[in-house]
Amino acid sequence: MEIARRISNFLFGMECLGCGTSSERLDPWLCPACRKALVDGGWEPKFPNADTLSLYPMQPLTRRLVHALKYGSIPGMASYMVRQSSLCKGGDAVDFLSPYAKPFFFVPVPLHRARYRERGYNQAEKIASAFALATGGRVCRWLKRKNFHVSQTKLSRNERAWNVVGAFAANLPARLPLKGTVFVVDDVFTTGATTGACTSALGKDFPLPVKVCTLIYDEPATARMDFVADCRMEWDV
Ligand SMILES: [Zn+2]
Repeated sequence: MEIARRISNFLFGMECLGCGTSSERLDPWLCPACRKALVDGGWEPKFPNADTLSLYPMQPLTRRLVHALKYGSIPGMASYMVRQSSLCKGGDAVDFLSPYAKPFFFVPVPLHRARYRERGYNQAEKIASAFALATGGRVCRWLKRKNFHVSQTKLSRNERAWNVVGAFAANLPARLPLKGTVFVVDDVFTTGATTGACTSALGKDFPLPVKVCTLIYDEPATARMDFVADCRMEWDV
């Protein structure tokens, strides 16, 4: 598997996760040129809609880094990418957040249980932690995955994939805060179906404004291959 080879090479051969070249000046995952490219990209966060902030566009470099986060057992990549973004450098991401009432509550999209067992962590939770650290907010696990009662095996692969999208339920504390803003956090925003399902799961009477933050914005057309691959791994475990 390509990413496993890359991670192995990184661990034992000090290879840049961005371009694959060996370098003694990794900090800790990228050579100076790739780190500069990441920071430059971070100056142009995406706003897929008025309620959504994505810290980076999907580019070959950011795609490799998100894959390292999700499949390469590098949970620290979440905070690394947030720290290199405009959120921590006084750019447009800060302007996006500044109008919203504090405190900020970052609610990660929950991971499928089988995937969690496989990975050992939820990447959305790592990203939420990094957002919380950068803004003085906190992470709230206010969503959970629903248990399926209909056998998934009776559905086609595509049906199973799309069925996941509606599979969230609220997991709220007995007493919700009276003020502040909720941000549903995911790794990639594509069509907004997943984060939209999460927002809906909080309920139409949810008392706080709900926005969305992700690491990456990916155009729906280019994301399709990743989505299919992701769901295949999700369900074939
Ligand atoms: Zn590089």
